[in-house]
Amino acid sequence: MSRPVQFNTHVKFEGIPEGYMGEGFMATNLEKVVSLARKNSIWPLPYATSCCGIEFMATVASHYDLARFGAERMSFSPRQCDLIMVMGTIAKKMGPVLRQVYLQMAEPRWVMAVGACASSGGIFDTYSVLQGIDQVIPVDVYVPGCPPRPEAILDGFMRIQELVNAEGLRRRYSDQYKGLLAEYGIQ
Ligand code: SF4
Repeated sequence: MSRPVQFNTHVKFEGIPEGYMGEGFMATNLEKVVSLARKNSIWPLPYATSCCGIEFMATVASHYDLARFGAERMSFSPRQCDLIMVMGTIAKKMGPVLRQVYLQMAEPRWVMAVGACASSGGIFDTYSVLQGIDQVIPVDVYVPGCPPRPEAILDGFMRIQELVNAEGLRRRYSDQYKGLLAEYGIQ
């Protein structure tokens, strides 16, 4: 005997983009559909150098389950990722390497600084530690904490999703975006 299908009533479905709806049809614009798809299929590149990386492992594991956001496909190649998550202390020597990885990412690309070290150098106010990755690459979202709890990392991730959802298809061609990259010496 087949059992009745049980639906989890706590599951939240993704909102339908604005547009026109009628019986059997829905019309919206391409930008909203692309944003919706991008937002829910982000491929993260975990750039983990120290303890914050352990919190990220917890964030991906079953209890916090980053897969709920469609982001379980980790990318260890910058050429196939959307979001670089920098987690840990970045030594000044590693700054050019991080920048090189960022440059190898295809547009559109986003950056998250996870934890105090990636955001500002954290407790390591020393000659050898980069005092924030925004000295070498532009950052979209900063997650505070030493280390940030998985909830904080998820919160940061959801803010990235908001940015992705709100970003127009042509933002990357804007003078404002080009100006931002120019500040970092990126063409
Ligand atoms: S912010 Fe704290 S937990 Fe994260 S890498 Fe730095 S020292 Fe480690």
